[in-house]
Amino acid sequence: GDITTPTAASIDGLSQHFPLCMQNLHRELRKNNHLKHFGRLQYTLFLKGIGLSLQECIIFWRKSFKLIADDKFKAEYLYNIRHAYGEVGGDANRRGRGYTPYSCQKLLTEPAPAAGQTHGCPYRTYAPDNLITLLQSFGVTDRALLQGVREDVGKQRYHIACNRVFEHAHKGPIKKVKDEALWPASELDTILHPNGYFKRSFMLKN
Ligand code: SF4
Repeated sequence: GDITTPTAASIDGLSQHFPLCMQNLHRELRKNNHLKHFGRLQYTLFLKGIGLSLQECIIFWRKSFKLIADDKFKAEYLYNIRHAYGEVGGDANRRGRGYTPYSCQKLLTEPAPAAGQTHGCPYRTYAPDNLITLLQSFGVTDRALLQGVREDVGKQRYHIACNRVFEHAHKGPIKKVKDEALWPASELDTILHPNGYFKRSFMLKN
């Protein structure tokens, strides 16, 4: 089905459709009531990409940073959110409506996060054992699947590992869509963007 317009309040529920990179940011945010700069930027742009309006995005961050006072939130965080949406900043930023949500390619080639940071693609940034533990903590426990992931990341085929996890999690709906030729074949091509992951997951399960 179609994607309904997300709101700040619907992000927790929608996060079941997020790829590992964004699920991990969402969990960190809920755990710490905070995210560091690059994680915030990556996640803000992803939320923008799923159709969250600037207004709702501000509400989302304001509520999520619940230990932070209003004046500090306004002084330190609000501008960056508005900037990402192209509401403020230079002419080019505003004309371009802010930043484009990051693709897997971009996330897979940026500098690795330092200790305490959670941004980037976990298939690349986590050591294989830690990646497997992370996946298990999100309910990905099939042994053959995890072995496949291990092999993929060993060959540095990070987005292939991510697609493998996606296909396993959505096998029933994918089979139906294929068997009944409900979607053009191109709609089932390899996922190359976190927002593509979200959209396909949502559409397969709704
Ligand atoms: Fe996110 Fe792409 Fe990495 Fe998957 S391959 S976790 S969508 S960056």
